[in-house]
Amino acid sequence: MSDCIFCKIGRHELASDIVYEDGELVAFKDINPVAPVHVLLIPKKHVSSLLDEGAEEGMLGRALALVPRIARQLGLAEKGFRLVVNTGKEGGQTVGHLHFHILGGRDMLWPPG
Ligand code: C5P
Repeated sequence: MSDCIFCKIGRHELASDIVYEDGELVAFKDINPVAPVHVLLIPKKHVSSLLDEGAEEGMLGRALALVPRIARQLGLAEKGFRLVVNTGKEGGQTVGHLHFHILGGRDMLWPPG
C-alpha cells in the first residue's frame, strides 16, 4: 500500500535504523522503544495483520526462523527476549502492517497489559 508507513520503511522511502534486511523481510529499531532492545520485523509486502490471508505460511515461517538470528545479533541470546505480534484492535495493533516485536534487555512482565 502506497501510504502505509511500514511499506515505506520497507521501500527505504522513510528513514529507519535497519538491523536486518533481505528481499522479503526487514527488521528495524522501533521509533518509540518500550525496552532497551526493541526491533520490529516486517514483511516488505503489505500484509495487514496475522489475520490477513496474505499472511502466508512460507513468509511466516521464514520470519519466525529469523527471530533467533536477529536476537543473537542484538545480544539477546544469553538472557532471552520476548516476541509479540499484536493483532487487531483488541490485540493492541496500532499499525496496520504485520510486525513482530522483538523485545529484550530487561525482565518482562506477565501477564502483559
Ligand atoms: O503492535 P503495534 O501496532 O501497536 O506497534 C506499532 C509499533 O510501531 C509501535 O511500537 C511504534 O512505536 C512503532 N512505530 C515505528 N515507526 C513508526 C511508527 C510506529 O517504529 N514510524
